[in-house]
Amino acid sequence: MVIRRIAPIEENPLSYEEVQTPEPRGKEVLIRVHTCGICRTELDEVEGRLQPKMPVIPGHQVVGRVIETGPNVERLVVGDRIGVAWIYYSCGVCRFCKRGLENLCEKFMGTGCDADGGYAEYMVVDEDYAYRIPEVFSDVEAAPLLCAGAIGYRALKLTGMEDGDTIGLYGFGSSAHIVFQLIRHLYPNSKIYVFTRRRGDAPGELASKMGADWVGETGDTPPSKLNCAIDTTPTGMPVKEALRNLERGGRLVMNLIRKETPITDLDYMQHLWWEREIKSVANITRRDVAEFLDIAARVPIKPEIVEFRLREANEALRMLKYGRYRGSGVLIIK
Ligand SMILES: [Zn+2]
Ligand SMILES: [Zn+2]
Repeated sequence: MVIRRIAPIEENPLSYEEVQTPEPRGKEVLIRVHTCGICRTELDEVEGRLQPKMPVIPGHQVVGRVIETGPNVERLVVGDRIGVAWIYYSCGVCRFCKRGLENLCEKFMGTGCDADGGYAEYMVVDEDYAYRIPEVFSDVEAAPLLCAGAIGYRALKLTGMEDGDTIGLYGFGSSAHIVFQLIRHLYPNSKIYVFTRRRGDAPGELASKMGADWVGETGDTPPSKLNCAIDTTPTGMPVKEALRNLERGGRLVMNLIRKETPITDLDYMQHLWWEREIKSVANITRRDVAEFLDIAARVPIKPEIVEFRLREANEALRMLKYGRYRGSGVLIIK
């Protein structure tokens, strides 16, 4: 599925095409793709909130098997089941890379954005940017762990949460419903409050079913203050709301990069005083992905999955835009 032009997803801008199978060079491996998770980033690429190379094959939650190796590959062999995440390349020598912050690398390349990704039968990736998938996960279950899960894990680390803290989750889509399971595992004495668009909507129902301590609508005041919060919504309003509900010294981590509506009317006394903080999450490191897959296998995390066929990618992204499915959308390619 190829993006050749920027257009609203309602116009079906992704086209189903026959393209050349890429050849693995140097340290690259050729992957036969089995599944690819659907992420809001694809919607941002299609609709022009993020500028990908053009044309581009999107998709950065890729699970498949190595079917061919480049001449300099050392670690992977044909038959290995691997995953590819958002980080496709980092330079390794800039001051960010040297400090373990390759997510901030000035030459960072995103999979399915700066290089072709997994909305396809085949893709190539450098073996150093591939991860072995733990046995406990099927190809379908593993896909959403690679961005929704892994970036959720990075966001959770950035909150500085400790066991016993109360956390607020604004939005309850693919990422939040995975982070929910991670929080229950890592912080068994903590409370989780979930805020969704409308009372009784599909994400809210999923949060109730999963046993959230409280579920409300964004704008509601929860039963107690939040020690930290994660915002995964595409709109500006939840930022203000989360800050309003934060306890003194609390931190809000924004897990969604491209807000579709602006963050307005922040008031110093109401939203920031008492050392309340906002932090964004930018990209991901390979260490985040590897650590998360390891923890996820131990929990084990079970994402709620909605399956689509590759040629249904436009439809799947449209449903994501309007919040018409709950949990994680995954394209089945093989
Ligand atoms: Zn993503
Ligand atoms: Zn770098």
